[in-house]
Amino acid sequence: VRANFSTVFDDEDEVTGFITVISDVTEQEKIDQERREFVSNVSHELRTPLTTMKSYIEALTDGAWQDKEIAPKFLSVAQNETERMIRMVNDLLQLSKMDAEEYPLQKERTDFISYYHHIIDRFEMHIPKHIALQREIPNGSYHVWIDKDKMTQVLDNIISNAIKYSPEGGTIKLKAEQKRHYLLISIHDQGLGIAYDKLDKIFERFYRADKARTRKLGGTGLGLAIAKELVEAHHGQIWAKSKEGKGTTIFFTLPLMNQKRRGAS
Ligand code: ADP
Repeated sequence: VRANFSTVFDDEDEVTGFITVISDVTEQEKIDQERREFVSNVSHELRTPLTTMKSYIEALTDGAWQDKEIAPKFLSVAQNETERMIRMVNDLLQLSKMDAEEYPLQKERTDFISYYHHIIDRFEMHIPKHIALQREIPNGSYHVWIDKDKMTQVLDNIISNAIKYSPEGGTIKLKAEQKRHYLLISIHDQGLGIAYDKLDKIFERFYRADKARTRKLGGTGLGLAIAKELVEAHHGQIWAKSKEGKGTTIFFTLPLMNQKRRGAS
């Protein structure tokens, strides 16, 4: 709600009254504003890789192409930037499809435990930096109603962030536990952490806690925004806890399907 106050004067400049106009800032205005911000963000985000590519290509055209040492490096920068732009545009397309609700989920009854192990096994095949993955996953089966491809995207985004921001030799703890009628999944890393006032923002589109750093790591700033949309489309919630310099934990929930109650905590 927006309020405007005005004072009413008569011909002799005497105050004769006050008018207060209270108007509703409609949902539509909010959406329009968000859309404007979004377009402006997208433009900025795409301009950076484009200007980088432009200057490297200019240097190549101006003669660097003849230098056997420099030319491959410049070409590889251009290639990386192109790949990042493609990732970003793909992420954007996915978000816009989700916004338009043109994004049917193919949900099926899935045992989350064996599915989770499978996802972690995949990461274990090519994990860098001597990072250890530690599982705290109960035995037995816990069924959830999920679109496996989309849930894989959620986990991929969270786990690859945990790896990206982990120190050499760090341990990433991957947990799942039953809480009443839902599963609580958490991924904890020992990385640099996120400041308290930035914690909620990391789920916003294009938000990066440290722009320069995450750009270098090839991020798009859209991974967690997509994860949030997808978790919510599964009737779950997602949030983060972090201690600067100590590490970050991303939590999300998924409703459990009807099954025998076991050791609810
Ligand atoms: P990006 O593609 O930049 O990683 P995300 O949407 O996945 O985009 O994450 C948004 C921002 O949140 C990141 O740029 C980073 O600043 C912060 N972030 C996400 N996960 C972690 C983590 N595990 N540790 C520290 N910071 C993180």
